[in-house]
Amino acid sequence: MRPLLEVQDLVHAYGERFVLTAGHWTLHPGQVVALVGPSGSGKSTFLKILGAHLTPEQGEVRFRSRLIPPQADALLPGHPGIGLVRQDFGQMPFRKVRENLLHFVHTDSDAQEARWTAQWLRSVGLTGLEDVPTGQLSGGQVQRLALAQTWASKPQVLLLDEPFSHLDPDTKRGLLDDLRAWQVHSKRAVVVVVHDIRDALEWADRIDVLMDGSMVASDTPQNLYRNPPTRSVARLFGRLNELPELAAQEILRAPLPGWNFGGTRCFYPEQLRPAYFRGPQAVVRSDFQGDRTWTVWDTPHGLLYGLEE
Ligand code: ADP
Ligand code: MG
Repeated sequence: MRPLLEVQDLVHAYGERFVLTAGHWTLHPGQVVALVGPSGSGKSTFLKILGAHLTPEQGEVRFRSRLIPPQADALLPGHPGIGLVRQDFGQMPFRKVRENLLHFVHTDSDAQEARWTAQWLRSVGLTGLEDVPTGQLSGGQVQRLALAQTWASKPQVLLLDEPFSHLDPDTKRGLLDDLRAWQVHSKRAVVVVVHDIRDALEWADRIDVLMDGSMVASDTPQNLYRNPPTRSVARLFGRLNELPELAAQEILRAPLPGWNFGGTRCFYPEQLRPAYFRGPQAVVRSDFQGDRTWTVWDTPHGLLYGLEE
């Protein structure tokens, strides 16, 4: 299957300080890719390049095998097949919700416009807010408006830059469910930038990890979680136990849990049980997590987190 979106030999720098590179990157029809990485790793920059909101200094971006031309001469940024919901939402605060929503949409009649507006606002839980100036919405509401705006233009590829960042857990859950239902129904491709990898695990077919401007990992959520290629990638999944390999051999039974990254033994709390210790260790506290409780042991090599038996 030919990729819907393809990047080749990308280089984009902001002065001396930051360089984004990507060798070969693809997105296939119907695929959901999560782009994960710490703040400042280049996620938004990569997404803007994918969405033709930014022309890279070097390299090519292709949509359905056709080169996306430089945007310098374009009237409006972007590409008709690709919808980008930016992190800053790109909404005009003095415009009414209705006007922002329909900004990129052509409607034939007032009746159609009213129907569409109501339908799209309902889909993101903003019913009745048509005539409110966008500047009066909460952060989460503006975020959902930006999503509806992009959604309404029916792109082949939907690019979402941290769509859950301003939302309370309940709203986030609802939005994620709606997005998933829409994606399954429409079979569109999605690239979603998330700060917290846990927001991506259940939805993504593939997770790409960006660190300091480079793609350091790309795999299914399952493979990435079970076999993180580096310590930094393992750290993305939450709390990580880290101790020198020799110390691990001293206090834990073989086979040791986790991975040896450059002489440091790393393993998730869920990989450690009391029975794995060679000798008794003092429990300093229990950390209640809701669905589980971490037991915290004080070892000669620092605190270790694990599961109660
Ligand atoms: P992320 O979305 O992963 O947080 P960004 O792509 O926004 O990262 O930014 C990557 C790096 O590039 C950061 O160090 C940021 O400060 C810098 N940067 C982003 N946009 C610009 C710009 N327009 N001019 C100069 N530096 C920028
Ligand atoms: Mg960003």
